[in-house]
Amino acid sequence: MDTDVLVVGAGPTGLMLANQLVRRGVRVLIIDRHAGPSLQTRALGVQARTMEIYSKLGIVDRALELGKRGTGANIWAQGRKMARVPLGEAGQNVTPYPFILVLGQDDNERIMGEKLRDLGMSVQWNTELVGLEQEPGSVTVTLKLPDGTNGKILAAWVAGCDGARSSVRELSGITFPGAPYEHVFFVADVEVTGSMVPDEVNVYLWQQGFHLLFPMRGKDHWRIVGILPPILRDRDDVKFEAVIPSLRNEAGAGLSFKTCTWFSTYRIHHRSASRFRDRRCFLLGDAAHIHSPVGAQGMNTGLQDAYNLAWKLALVVKDQAAVALLDSYEEERVPVARMLLNSTDRAFRLVVSDSRLAGLFRTKILARIAAFAMSRTRIQRFAFGVVSQTGIHYRKGSLSKSLEGLPDSAPRGGDRFPWLRLKFRANGAVEDLFQKLDDTHFSLIVIGQPAPPEGTLDLGDLFRIHVIPVDPINDGELARAQIPQPSFYLVRPDGHIGLCGARLEAAAVKRYISEHLRLGVCGVRTVPGYRAHVGPP
Ligand SMILES: Cc1cc2nc3c(=O)[nH]c(=O)nc-3n(C[C@H](O)[C@H](O)[C@H](O)COP(=O)(O)OP(=O)(O)OC[C@H]3O[C@@H](n4cnc5c(N)ncnc54)[C@H](O)[C@@H]3O)c2cc1C
Repeated sequence: MDTDVLVVGAGPTGLMLANQLVRRGVRVLIIDRHAGPSLQTRALGVQARTMEIYSKLGIVDRALELGKRGTGANIWAQGRKMARVPLGEAGQNVTPYPFILVLGQDDNERIMGEKLRDLGMSVQWNTELVGLEQEPGSVTVTLKLPDGTNGKILAAWVAGCDGARSSVRELSGITFPGAPYEHVFFVADVEVTGSMVPDEVNVYLWQQGFHLLFPMRGKDHWRIVGILPPILRDRDDVKFEAVIPSLRNEAGAGLSFKTCTWFSTYRIHHRSASRFRDRRCFLLGDAAHIHSPVGAQGMNTGLQDAYNLAWKLALVVKDQAAVALLDSYEEERVPVARMLLNSTDRAFRLVVSDSRLAGLFRTKILARIAAFAMSRTRIQRFAFGVVSQTGIHYRKGSLSKSLEGLPDSAPRGGDRFPWLRLKFRANGAVEDLFQKLDDTHFSLIVIGQPAPPEGTLDLGDLFRIHVIPVDPINDGELARAQIPQPSFYLVRPDGHIGLCGARLEAAAVKRYISEHLRLGVCGVRTVPGYRAHVGPP
C-alpha cells in the first residue's frame, strides 16, 4: 500500500482533512492539480465552529491575528438602517468565538498549509487524479504527474476534496443533481468610504437584489458581494465601474471609491451529491455539496465534513475501530448538507427574486421582520447557532445515544457538547473545557458523581476521563447549559456527544464502545488484505 489515505485536492477541505489525519498518525498523500496554492479570496467568513476546530489544530491565534472580527450585521433598505443583528451578544457563553471572522480563503489555506508543513507533510502540486479502480481492499489510482507522465499508486482510502467538478465523484459514478441559478454574482475588493457601520457586516437590500459589504483588514478596505443588475447579466466583459451606479443607488450616494484591487463575476449552482461515499472513496466539501454563498457556509461546511470523517478514518486505519464506523460519515453529513442547501436556497431566492412583489417584500418587510426577530433573545440565539454552525447536531445518527433519566432540556446524544468554564479540581482554577478536551481521544465527562473505580471501564488509550466536582461555579455553568447532576457524557473526538445519561453505568459505556468501535463485533471486520500503517508519515 502506497498510502493509507489519498487526499485529492488541497483547497480548504483537503488541507483540513490532511492535517487532522496526519496529527492522528495516519499516512497521507495530498495532491492537487494546480501548480500552487490558490490566490483567490473566494470564501471570506470563518464561523465560530471552524474557529473552535482551528483552536484544537493550534492555528486559531494566527487566524485571529490576520482576520477581522465582525461582531454584528446591519441591514439597510432604501438608505435607512433597519436592523442590527448582534452576533457578539447572541454567541456569548456559546463559544469562545462569538463573532464571524472575516478572513479570506487564501489566508485560511495558507495557515492550514503551514500547519501541515509543521507536521512534516507538504502538498504534491501539479499532480492530478485521472483514474481510479476499486478493489476489495484498496483503490488503484492513476495520477498525472508533474512531468506529464501517468503513474499508478495503491491507496487504502481516497478522499475526494476536489471541488465542484470532482473527478473522484465522477469516476465513482455518483450523480450531482441540482441546477444553476440564473443570477450572476460579482465580488470586488475595494477601498471605499460610505454609510457602512465600521468593522461590521453591512447588508443593503434593494428592489433587484442585495449588496453585502464585509470589513477587510486595512483602512476603508471592504469586500463587496452582490448580484449583477439584470441588464449586465449576459455580458462577459463587466468591469467594476459598471456596478458602481447600482451600488451608489442602493448603498448610498455618499459612497466614495478610491481603488478596486479585484473584481470578478461568477455563476453559482445548488447541488448535492446523491451519495457521499462509494466503498473506499469519500466526497467532502464542494465535491459533495455546493450552494449560494448567502450565509458564508460553504467553506465552513467542507471543514466540518473533514473534521467529522478524520477521526473515524484514523481509528479504522489504525485498526482501532470497525470499518462500519465509516458509515456514520454519510449518515451524519448528508442531512447537514441537504438542510444547508434548502435553507440557503430559500434565503437566496428571497433576496434575489426579480419579481416586483419580492422587491417590495425585500425592502419594505424583510428588514422589519429581521429587526423584530433580532429583538428576541431566543431567535437571536437560534440564528447564531445556525450561522455559526455550533448548533449542528447528529441526534438522529446511529452513533448518538441518550439513556433514560436525562431531562429533555439537557444536551443529548449527537449534540455538540457545550462550551463551559469549569473547575476540574475542588479549589482549583476555572478552566476552559474546550482547551481541556483532547480531540484525538474520546472524553468521558463525569458530572456530580465519583469517577468509576479504577479498572471498571478498561477503555485503553482511546479515552480521557474528566471528573467535574460539585462546586458553586460548576453548578452555575452546568445549570446554564441545562446539564443535570449527576450525569455523564461520552464525547467523541469531534466534540459531539456519543452517549449520555444520568448515573454513570460502566456497562452502558462498554456496550456503546463495543457496538460502535471495536473490531469483530456485530459481525463487522476490518477489510481483509489490508494491514494499516501506524506511525509518522
Ligand atoms: C465568490 C465566492 C464566495 C464565497 N464565500 C464564502 C464564504 O464567505 N464562506 C464560506 O464558507 N464559503 C464561501 N464560498 C464557498 C467556498 O469558496 C467553497 O465552499 C470552498 O472553496 C470549498 O472548498 P473545497 O476545498 O471543498 O474545494 P475547492 O476550494 O474547490 O478545492 C478543490 C481543489 O481540488 C483540486 N482538484 C480538482 N480536481 C482535481 C484532481 N482531479 N486532481 C487533483 N486535484 C484536483 C483543485 O485544484 C482545488 O485546489 C464562496 C465561494 C465563492 C465562489
